Amino acid sequence: MEEKNTLSRRSFFKFAVAGAAVVPFLTKATKALAADACPTTAPAGKAVASPTEGMGKTLNYVLDAKTSKHAKYKAGQQCGNCKFYNAAKAEGGYAPCTMMGMKYVTNCGWCSSYAVKA
Ligand code: SF4
Repeated sequence: MEEKNTLSRRSFFKFAVAGAAVVPFLTKATKALAADACPTTAPAGKAVASPTEGMGKTLNYVLDAKTSKHAKYKAGQQCGNCKFYNAAKAEGGYAPCTMMGMKYVTNCGWCSSYAVKA
């Protein structure tokens, strides 16, 4: 009877240690997924580029790069890794874009003026 309790305690501690070791990895993975998520709401009070008018329309801007049918688009390209995306002024997953007259674009977006950040 005593031995059974000892084994249970051992098992409990093994799982507790394993669980404690896994938590930081899960937390990091969750944060990475959150960072990759496209923003759903544009920042309030900011001029936001539109895919259907102005420079957005001219440059074939899309809110989700993966939906672009443009011949220049290549997988992995998106505003968030474009040299015209002013990440220093980012707010809620949006930042001003030089090519869009400093209107805010989503980090998941894309347009035909995309240029990889050096
Ligand atoms: S120039 Fe770059 S940051 Fe601006 S809309 Fe086009 S892809 Fe996005």
